[in-house]
Amino acid sequence: MTLLACPIFVREPNAVHDALDQADRAVQAGARLIEWRIDALVGGDDAFKAIQTLLRDSPASCIVTCRPLWEGGLCEVPEIERLELLRNIIESDSPPKYVDLEMLALERSPEAAIALIDAIKETNTRPGVEVGLILSSHDFKGRPVDLIQKIETMTNEMGVNVIKVVWLARSLRDNLEAFAILRERSRPTLALCMGEFGLMSRVLAPKFGGFITFASEAPGHETAPGQASIEELRNLYRFDSIGRDTKVYGVIGWPVGHSLSPKIHNAGFDAIEHDGVYLPLPVPKEYEHFKATVGSLIDDERLDFRGASVTIPHKENLIRFVMERGGSIEPMAGFIGAANTLVVNEDGSIEAINTDCPAAIKALCARLDIEPDALQGKRVAILGAGGVARGIVAGLAQLGAKVTIFNRSQNRAEAMVEAFRELAPIAIGEALQLIDERFDIYINGTPLGMNGGPDPEASPLPDGAPLEGALVMETVYNPVETPLIRQAEANGAITLDGLAMFVRQAGTQFKHWTGRALPVDVMDVDRGN
Ligand code: NAP
Repeated sequence: MTLLACPIFVREPNAVHDALDQADRAVQAGARLIEWRIDALVGGDDAFKAIQTLLRDSPASCIVTCRPLWEGGLCEVPEIERLELLRNIIESDSPPKYVDLEMLALERSPEAAIALIDAIKETNTRPGVEVGLILSSHDFKGRPVDLIQKIETMTNEMGVNVIKVVWLARSLRDNLEAFAILRERSRPTLALCMGEFGLMSRVLAPKFGGFITFASEAPGHETAPGQASIEELRNLYRFDSIGRDTKVYGVIGWPVGHSLSPKIHNAGFDAIEHDGVYLPLPVPKEYEHFKATVGSLIDDERLDFRGASVTIPHKENLIRFVMERGGSIEPMAGFIGAANTLVVNEDGSIEAINTDCPAAIKALCARLDIEPDALQGKRVAILGAGGVARGIVAGLAQLGAKVTIFNRSQNRAEAMVEAFRELAPIAIGEALQLIDERFDIYINGTPLGMNGGPDPEASPLPDGAPLEGALVMETVYNPVETPLIRQAEANGAITLDGLAMFVRQAGTQFKHWTGRALPVDVMDVDRGN
């Protein structure tokens, strides 16, 4: 079982009571260990008294860490003084459960470091006392070139109970190396990756037998880049149910931080008791990154990677990737040239599917209370000519709707018209038409209005567009109430927010991966989040 540890920085002696309150909250939220980060508390009687109070009143077993500047911490005092402080703590009346010692300290001040290890041995002869030594190595710049050698040296070091290696991940692939280290361990080990690519190593530590994973008490209290909060780890990422056989899914995009998908799919897995976890999987936008990363996730058999949602800017990359690997491409996805769903079967075969297109048509028909056939002859203005617009246009054109595309760049609109030439004639509109003419349906396929997008305050429709009685459909779902939705409501249109399509496309993905329907109550996601 992986212990969930909450690191808490204590920056000055008079912050001890607040720190203990924070530790209480962490334990109530599910932390099993508290890591007291005392880097800034070194020096003076007050500081030592404060540390003793922390150890005596700690609401859970604790690790004491006094990280020096040279290892990414805050402690600036001379090395001998720092190690002597740790020794005094170990020899005190309330010794911690673990003390963290940097591997480099053994090289920089061997005598003082060995004296510390001897002090642990001596303390452990006291009845009922057991202090463990965590030997650690951190790299905030990237994967250390001598990582494997380091682990070997740490493993051979006498008196060490736990090995800890942490580095800044350069891509998702670094997590796979962390998992290999955990699988091959010969003593309790932590192998964690920091940064935006490292979340996977923190969440999946129980799958590979990691000894400890760290999580902050609340957002904003992180002690390392990429650390999730206890609440996120347990409630969003299903930490307590992750085991050796847990299947891994995720959303592949760049960026992926805003995605609602982890919330929906993890809640769905919970509701149907599917042994799976769904993670954000950031992959930089170039195809080479996509190919290398997704290929490694699929090829690592122990990861049990079973599928992904694929979003901007990788929907076309997914088609290319699946084609190159000889997988199967659902006809609609092939026709559109973009897919948003990857299915990895148990035998390693892969499929690319487009669930955006049917989801948009279903959401539209449900809102208008019509059958898909009734879309024939409807005048539809599509704003944008990117991936999402392409899927919606294909679906609408197939059903005989009269589609006009309005896009910022002419060449992309022309490319879409050309691609669908055999399906139906599609017009390219001039901006003024949006004021002079009335359409039955308007659909936003641009990121305008999206939080974190190019212009969160903008609507893709001009003021004065004649919207009364028309249906205005949004695809942006973060926020749910976009400037376009407000404009449509103010002008007497029927509105359909981006969640309606989003939840339907997610439901179809869920069915492909689990064989089960996404439970309805899960769809009632926290609107606006
Ligand atoms: P995409 O392939 O990058 O296409 C974006 C489109 O928006 C392009 O046509 C682009 O025009 C246009 N655009 C971008 N910035 C613009 C700006 N500042 N002003 C005017 N036009 C601009 O993206 P996508 O995959 O189609 O996604 C678009 C939106 O759909 C995103 O906000 C995404 O969240 C949403 N979406 C929602 C769902 C759902 O289920 N609700 C599913 C998928 C996507 P150019 O051709 O001139 O670059």
